[in-house]
Amino acid sequence: MFWYTGAKEHLFEDGYCQMNTAAYSCSAPERVVLHCDMNNYFASVESVYNPGLKGVPLAVCGDPASRHGIVLAKNNIAKRYGVVTGESMFTAKAKCPSLVTVTADYSRYLKYARFARKIYSRYSDIVTPYGLDEAWLELDSAASDINCGITVADEIRTCIKKELGLTASIGVSYNYIFSKLGSDIKKPDAVTVISKDNYKHMVWNRPAFELLFVGSVTRKKLYKMGILSIGDLARSDPMKLSRELGKRGYMLWEYANGDDRNFCPTITNDDEIKSIGNSITTPVDITNSDDIAALLYIICSGISKRLAKHSFKSRCVGINVKNCEFYSYSRRTSFTAPINTPDELFEVAYKLFQASYDWTKPVRMIGVFAERLCDYGNEQLCFYPNTPVINPRIKDLVRSLPERLGKIKLEDSATHKEAIPDIQYII
Ligand SMILES: [Mg+2]
Repeated sequence: MFWYTGAKEHLFEDGYCQMNTAAYSCSAPERVVLHCDMNNYFASVESVYNPGLKGVPLAVCGDPASRHGIVLAKNNIAKRYGVVTGESMFTAKAKCPSLVTVTADYSRYLKYARFARKIYSRYSDIVTPYGLDEAWLELDSAASDINCGITVADEIRTCIKKELGLTASIGVSYNYIFSKLGSDIKKPDAVTVISKDNYKHMVWNRPAFELLFVGSVTRKKLYKMGILSIGDLARSDPMKLSRELGKRGYMLWEYANGDDRNFCPTITNDDEIKSIGNSITTPVDITNSDDIAALLYIICSGISKRLAKHSFKSRCVGINVKNCEFYSYSRRTSFTAPINTPDELFEVAYKLFQASYDWTKPVRMIGVFAERLCDYGNEQLCFYPNTPVINPRIKDLVRSLPERLGKIKLEDSATHKEAIPDIQYII
């Protein structure tokens, strides 16, 4: 079966995070943690370069050469028209005919992210970026309390405005989870404090899906259990949550109670990331190419999101395959034009599989990795006429995969930790 024919659609998802096992020591109980989130980041940076864009409905789009170019970010005016991230430019313009679209320029976003990180580093040695527009800062607990945190947050907000011409929302709390939540509560250009004294009042009435790592699948499961708010989650029986949701259930119960001891923020320095990979060990052995195609598409969509999160593209893609007798091998291929979309990654990965697997034995595990990573900004933005178009039937296969194979766990190839396998995000 040849998979790269037919309609093509890019798939992006905001706010994806890959948890990493990088050692993170959680320490003193009186920590002060800030989470800074620059508002409407891509659109705001574009408005710094072209102030005329400030007063118009604006969308930053990828790949305008394609009819399927999608909205990567928008400003508040476009938001009011109902323009949402991830929809096609075509749909966005139907909602808002006066919408101004600009092509994403990742070198700019990377540059401003680095400027912002320099500002953060004036206040803390423990800065953990989360994508380009967000970062956690942990203040020195010996020298700070929550009031000091508020002062620092106000100073950072002022610096970001004066020096970068951008605005940021900042959450100040005693843990990573609530500080992240705090930065979402008031926008733009605001500080929200969630302390040990006010967290029940501030956080527990909020919907459970606002909590970090509650995706659409988990949200539905929680809903079925009658858990609607973060407070419901915090007051639930953690053992019951574990039974229903696995390890994640217990973790979310901890988060809802402000306990981040088991939270591992993403590794601090994008420059240290050499490879991004995911794999799936299937619940049953795979005996046909359709299921392999669907699995590869899920894996490649996950890798694509992780690449986007760090503003990377890849010049080398490889696969790992293990058969049911535990024989395993890798294949990789390099190319000059870097790639990062699910379709592009899938095309390479599936070709590698087809060229290397003889089907004398069923497949037990399959993985994909992206190497030779480069910043978006370090390559010329150009549009290649031979962008792959993937058979739309792949989406049906992905959708129906759990029926055929059962529950699928996407694993981070580097750490062997369970990644965030929200299949519903992918399709
Ligand atoms: Mg933001």
